[in-house]
Amino acid sequence: MAKIIKVQKGTKDILPQEVGQWHKLEKNALEIFTRYGYKEIRTPIFEATELFARGVGDTTDIVNKEMYTFEKSDRSITLRPENTAGVVRSFIENGMARLSAPVKLWYKGPMFRYERPQAGRQRQFHQVGVEMFGIKEPTADAEAIMLAVDYLNSLGLNDLEVEINSLGCPKCREEYKRKIKEVLKPEFDNLCEDCQNRYEKNPLRLLDCKVESCKEIFEKPEIQKVIQSDFICEECAQHYSELKSYLDKLNIKYVENKLLVRGLDYYNRTVFEIKSNNLGSQNAVCGGGRYDSLVRNLGGEDTPAVGWAMGMERLNSLLPEIEPEKLDGYIVSNSPADAFAFAQELRAKGVNVEFDLANKKFTKQLEKASKVARFALILGEDEIKVNKVSVKNLSTSEQVTIDRNEVIDKIKA
Ligand code: ATP
Ligand code: MG
Repeated sequence: MAKIIKVQKGTKDILPQEVGQWHKLEKNALEIFTRYGYKEIRTPIFEATELFARGVGDTTDIVNKEMYTFEKSDRSITLRPENTAGVVRSFIENGMARLSAPVKLWYKGPMFRYERPQAGRQRQFHQVGVEMFGIKEPTADAEAIMLAVDYLNSLGLNDLEVEINSLGCPKCREEYKRKIKEVLKPEFDNLCEDCQNRYEKNPLRLLDCKVESCKEIFEKPEIQKVIQSDFICEECAQHYSELKSYLDKLNIKYVENKLLVRGLDYYNRTVFEIKSNNLGSQNAVCGGGRYDSLVRNLGGEDTPAVGWAMGMERLNSLLPEIEPEKLDGYIVSNSPADAFAFAQELRAKGVNVEFDLANKKFTKQLEKASKVARFALILGEDEIKVNKVSVKNLSTSEQVTIDRNEVIDKIKA
């Protein structure tokens, strides 16, 4: 026998018995996001590597370690590790800054990161996300968070924790970064290798480190004092406090977490995450924030923006299983021509129906019907002669013989 080729490490098939949950995630996304005025955008799965280097930031784990990059005709191409950069590219390229603000876009689809596969972490995974352009006011941040909560609630997910923080603006952050570096300097040799590398380039990222020994260091009082200090400037503080007052008004419960800095370089002011206690260690389902300088950094005009992304696999693991739907009817007949014609008649009217393409024995067909359908639609010789059909309800076994045009009423009832 030929050698079997297996699925790649860190990737998964989504099988028919699991796809119901995915349909739900996608259907609710379309429904809820549309309610808030978002339009779907579909951007390519690969982009110029430079887009991510500049758009995600070359001090991030994503760009440094996790990208799937390859050369094709002298071009460096990367499978998208996230989709904000792609959406921003498209926003700029398609002149969407000319549209009246806000421009609200949502997306769903696969992302690729070369990470160590584990529960809740794959190399190909899926995100659903939103990006809103053109509004600097904190109403936009609040609406984005409200939308995330609304979407999660629509999926029956209520037991979640919203964490927020403000990273300030590049101006007030400079001083904060300096202080963080200063207070961590004596500990430099005790930091993990990643943190040592980030120390110069992206000191805020240290706060986000998941390594126990680093977390312990950050617990030290003198370091906590800097972390917990209110470093943000007056304008940023005003923005942040308005955001919180909107969240209060909307009854969105949140906790403030000064350690929340998010992995990506481009955030300013608001950052947030939504976590579930039912997910184990990879417990973040949603991450987002404000990124007012990204559009400009990627060559567009100054455009404030806010957005978030959710990991669909993690959402999925929180949803109850959804049984695949049964067919409305399965036609049982030993006259394939009649069965086929009847099937087409019903399909044209929106009924989900199959018949036995292999024309097996009548009893075999009945057995199959009871497995896959709610009703057996029996076209035996007798029924065919008088142009009728016997409809058997496969859960109650009740059976009636009726005119064929009455079938829809019977099975939709
Ligand atoms: P993490 O801290 O879990 O690595 P992240 O900060 O890298 O998350 P984001 O880039 O903010 O994640 O992506 C948003 C969401 O996408 C995450 O909250 C998570 O639900 C999901 N996600 C990120 N990476 C993966 C992955 N490798 N596999 C599955 N889901 C992922
Ligand atoms: Mg990550």
